[in-house]
Formats: sequence, C-alpha cells, structure tokens
Amino acid sequence: MGFDAATAFKEASRCLNCDVQTVFNRQACIECDACTDVCPMDCITFTHNGEEAELRTRLKAPARDLSQALYVSAPLKTGRVMVKDEDVCLHCGLCAERCPTGAWDMQKFQLTTVQAGPYSRAAQPIPSTLEVA
Ligand code: SF4
Ligand code: SF4
Repeated sequence: MGFDAATAFKEASRCLNCDVQTVFNRQACIECDACTDVCPMDCITFTHNGEEAELRTRLKAPARDLSQALYVSAPLKTGRVMVKDEDVCLHCGLCAERCPTGAWDMQKFQLTTVQAGPYSRAAQPIPSTLEVA
C-alpha cells in the first residue's frame, strides 16, 4: 500500500539478507578493531562492560531504541567486550569480509514458524501462545 508499481518493484528487488545472521566467535577475535572501522552502521563497539543504560550511551553510535536488545559478548582477552547494536545491523557481511581471523561469520538460518497443522484437522483447544519450532 502506498507504493506505485515502479517503487514496489524496486523495493521487492532489495536483498535485506534477512536469513543471514552475524555470528561472533570471541575465541578467534584478536581485537584489531577492523570490523568497527568497516561497519557502515557503526554498530560494533569494543569497550569495557557496564550497566545497559550507561553502556548504550558510549557505543560508537548511541543505541537509543530501548526495544532492541544489545548483543554483548563474554569478556575478550583484554577484558573488553564486543557490543553490537542489533537494531541497525544491515547484515551486509562487511565485518566478516574484513575480519582477518574469521571471528565474524555470516551464517544462514531458517525460521520455521508454526503452521495451522493439526489444529486445522482435529478439534483441539488452540493454545494462547504458539512457539517457534
Ligand atoms: S553485517 Fe554489516 S552492518 Fe552488520 S555488523 Fe557487520 S558490517 Fe556492520
Ligand atoms: S575484525 Fe575480527 S579480529 Fe578484528 S576486532 Fe573485529 S572480530 Fe575481532
């Protein structure tokens, strides 16, 4: 709704990489900061850990959307943590391309949602909450 045909076609042609996720392996990270330099969204920060509200204010780009969780790694070799603001990651894969040790990896995942399944074939009570399989 709201798109003309040309704009709708352009939007539908965009690849948002929704099925590819960034995976961080802290054991492989040498804290060279190359991924922070290349990230177009400034969503990766290596820093010392802290309370979430305060930590959000001193990331490379402040994470103001409180509804979106931060990813905070376990401590790295220097004691810092890797913090990623999942709200703005484009899944572009540049961090994984730049990383010299393979600490960032782009991995495909499949989201399987519950289908109507047995509830469409037999009279059973439908639970109020459905779980992702
Ligand atoms: S996938 Fe792209 S936007 Fe996301 S953290 Fe890596 S470089 Fe940044
Ligand atoms: S580029 Fe790789 S090794 Fe360097 S800081 Fe980022 S994750 Fe760690």
